[in-house]
Amino acid sequence: MKKKLAELKTRLAEINDLQMVASLLDWDQHTYMPQGGAQARGRQLATLAKITQERFIDPAVGRLLEDLRPYEESLSSDADDAGLLRVTRRDYELALKVPPKFLAEFHVHIADSYQIWTQARPANDFDRVRPCLEKTLDLSRRMAGFFPGYEHIADPLINFSDYGMKASAVRRLFAELRTRLVPIVRSITSQPAADDSCLRLHYPEAQQLKFAEEVVRRLGYDFNRGRIDKTHHPFMTKFSLGDVRITTRVKEDFLGEALFSTMHEAGHALYEQGIDRAFEASPLGDGASSGVHESQSRTWENLVGRSRGFWEYFYPRLQAAFPAQLKGVSLERFYRAVNKVERSLIRTDADEVTYNLHVMLRFDFELALLEGSLAVRDLPEAWRERFRQDFGIAPPDDRDGVLQDVHWFGGTIGGAFQGYTLGNILSAQFYDAALTAHPEIPEEMRQGRFGTLHGWLKENIYRHGRKFTMDELAQSATGAPLTIEPYIRYLGTKYGELYDLR
Ligand code: ZN
Repeated sequence: MKKKLAELKTRLAEINDLQMVASLLDWDQHTYMPQGGAQARGRQLATLAKITQERFIDPAVGRLLEDLRPYEESLSSDADDAGLLRVTRRDYELALKVPPKFLAEFHVHIADSYQIWTQARPANDFDRVRPCLEKTLDLSRRMAGFFPGYEHIADPLINFSDYGMKASAVRRLFAELRTRLVPIVRSITSQPAADDSCLRLHYPEAQQLKFAEEVVRRLGYDFNRGRIDKTHHPFMTKFSLGDVRITTRVKEDFLGEALFSTMHEAGHALYEQGIDRAFEASPLGDGASSGVHESQSRTWENLVGRSRGFWEYFYPRLQAAFPAQLKGVSLERFYRAVNKVERSLIRTDADEVTYNLHVMLRFDFELALLEGSLAVRDLPEAWRERFRQDFGIAPPDDRDGVLQDVHWFGGTIGGAFQGYTLGNILSAQFYDAALTAHPEIPEEMRQGRFGTLHGWLKENIYRHGRKFTMDELAQSATGAPLTIEPYIRYLGTKYGELYDLR
């Protein structure tokens, strides 16, 4: 049995190596690669994906999993080997269903489509990406079709990123959240908006990057196992648990961009850097789901990075870095500026309160596109209409409307967005539990110390990697299933202090 387990682990490590090489090519494509490399890079990624898939669905892997079943059953379910076998079997059964030839076609299409999007968005040219999106929708439907027996066509796609979730469960949760959120948004946006002009001065790029780096270093991001580079659309990636990278983008006329996107990606990276090193090169050496991942980026970006205590420590340092811009700006004014709530066009720039409405819009469109009740060609108009309903404003063009997100140009339609709001909900639930265990956390934050919070998150979430599902983690770390109550309470307390919430 020992020999078989060792053989399986060796095979899985080789497969993981191939995946990490693909991540490196992908990182390079989004940071330094000249445009001329796009076509070949797409092919290379497709080749790697094909080889990886072939190696993984090798019947020998299936036989090893079968042979190891008695061993797995002899273990308690929270044992590492039990987790490894459970997660590998789940991945294996999923992978078996998607033919390698289809996967290769999908990857080639997505690489093309991403490249076209990078040009079509600045040109505000929806017609250029329309055929791409139509093909993506077709491929997404075919992808779901490999998993017959679903309740909703989006379920298999949601399952890829948030294992165990279904469209119906997400719909219920979102409807409940929406009911509680809309009055808060209405109440806040009917009052005078916070003045954030102090963020909209000239802030030179080099100093912004230096300050953002200082911040994430303090939060606990380990630069011996990571680095920061610039990109079009910030992301976190890793090539091993010893090399977890983040990317960021800078706007010299807006201080919030690099600062908060770097904290966001650093949150993802803290999660990955915190995974048990014993899970290196195995299917367990990854985050539990997109929702759990997002809960961590939002924790560090928002619950920590937009809190008053955090800025009590960092604001004097920020003022020292940008004396000319911030000399006469009080901490209170700055705190209000970084927590400005407004009806805005861009999801990634949205505040904590309106953010989820952006996500729900996209989630609903994904379901409608997959169901066939909305056609790709009608998407820009549908977007404007829904936006007008939800936000009371309409995007002036597609660039800041339907073309703004990379997701549908870099993956399937379906399963791409729900994780953001699941993450927001979970972030407050986890944070609540951390505060109950360690009431000293807010005071430590005021002194620029984040170790207790980081330690609790590592102990209860990060170190487990993929061993447990989102539901299991919520239950074990907080003693309750996924619930919106802590999140609503958090928003109510924080924004009730900044605005009159009636
Ligand atoms: Zn994120």
